[in-house]
Amino acid sequence: MNATCSSFAPWVSDYCEPSESLAVMAARLADALEQDVRDFLVASDQNLGDIEVQIEQQSRELLRVAAEKAAQKKAHLTPPVCPVCRQRLRRVTEDHRRSFDCKFGTITIARSRGYCKRCHKWHFPADTALGLEETAGYSPRVQEMVALLASKMPVGEASAVLEHLTGVRMPRATLDREARRQGQRAQQLRRKLDEQACAAPPRWAQPELVLEPYQMIIELDAWNIRERDQWGETERLRRGGREPERWHWVYTGTCFRLDHRGKTQGGRPVISQRGFVATRAGIDALREQLHAEAMRRGLGQAAGALVIGDGAVWIWRLADDRFPEARQRLDFYHAVEHLTAVGRALFGEDKDKFKEGLRPLARQLKNQSSIKVVQQLEEILAGLPAGTPAAAVQKEVHYFQEHKDRMDYRAGQRRGEPIGSGAIESTCRQTQCRFKRPGQYWSQQGDEALLSLEMFWRNQRWHLLFPHNRHLDLPKN
Ligand SMILES: [Zn+2]
Repeated sequence: MNATCSSFAPWVSDYCEPSESLAVMAARLADALEQDVRDFLVASDQNLGDIEVQIEQQSRELLRVAAEKAAQKKAHLTPPVCPVCRQRLRRVTEDHRRSFDCKFGTITIARSRGYCKRCHKWHFPADTALGLEETAGYSPRVQEMVALLASKMPVGEASAVLEHLTGVRMPRATLDREARRQGQRAQQLRRKLDEQACAAPPRWAQPELVLEPYQMIIELDAWNIRERDQWGETERLRRGGREPERWHWVYTGTCFRLDHRGKTQGGRPVISQRGFVATRAGIDALREQLHAEAMRRGLGQAAGALVIGDGAVWIWRLADDRFPEARQRLDFYHAVEHLTAVGRALFGEDKDKFKEGLRPLARQLKNQSSIKVVQQLEEILAGLPAGTPAAAVQKEVHYFQEHKDRMDYRAGQRRGEPIGSGAIESTCRQTQCRFKRPGQYWSQQGDEALLSLEMFWRNQRWHLLFPHNRHLDLPKN
């Protein structure tokens, strides 16, 4: 085995015997740590941070050797069988070396290679057993760290943070490539999970016992992202009479059971379990992904469903198409914005009149009947002479007429349902913090991959993508 002496670990460099047992190394590490503690006690300029860093650096080599031993033994024990079709491999040769970075440093292992006659391909079965990608030189834990960091921050920063916190060095471009690969894997896994969620349950499967009937709440919204596809081709496109499109919609949705919505002690609304979907791949992709997510969250057993969104046409088309049984509700705050537009048309800058005229309408809309509000707006319109204000009011009257069946705010409040789409709007804001930083441009492939990773994390399915986390209780995001 190829154990390198680390400059961070002088207890190894004194006497570096590659085949040394872990127990011996651990005993020497313990001695070295005791010495570190003694040194720390007399170092008046050091605080706990100094000893934390020292202990971490001292221990790293032992951890690296342990991981290397484990990987090598597992590689030895892996039978020469095709990882794809399970056929026994032919022309097997031993001792093919491969180095890769794990969380504790670089590891080198020797493994066997063989040819599968059925797949017509050479394989290293140990690589599959260890979870190593064919081309990337990183362990599963490092793959995971890269995926998580890149979905939370720009890759340049991610590279620096990774090295600072873990000692793993990965240049920005490599990190970008690796994160995208993980994102593509996330997309593939999501498709598989979505198919499973939407497939009809087998006949023997009993529906989950539902003690109390519940409503499924589905909220939709969109925000836009700037991409650099066709970068540098602006002139050429314009000569051809086309304007390059840089801004694109990211469609998002969230779903949760109404009985999973509650309040903190401070009175802040919280949702204990909810599903998230975000995609740059268009409305059709959102529709399928959101339906699958809602099914996973219990849509199949729900007593009813409610879709909430702003006035965007795509939202109601999607709802009619995929959730035809669901009730629809226009976000209350968007409705109020349209009342405000009426106020501006009628009263201009006169704030007192504005308040006096609009407050009763907004209150009525929330606590009484939307039909009455629409009637009053129609009456106001009928009394206006033709002109700009009348045209503006006319537009808003149309808006309210169109959505009048989606404004059952009084009934919604009585049932304890949300009247606004605040849950999805706050999700959008959080996601945009990552994707809309100054000077950032994305490509469709890149942003879809990272959005997919981010959704695995938010939906608390990270362990499905990185199964070594399945025993950990990952914090909620
Ligand atoms: Zn095969």
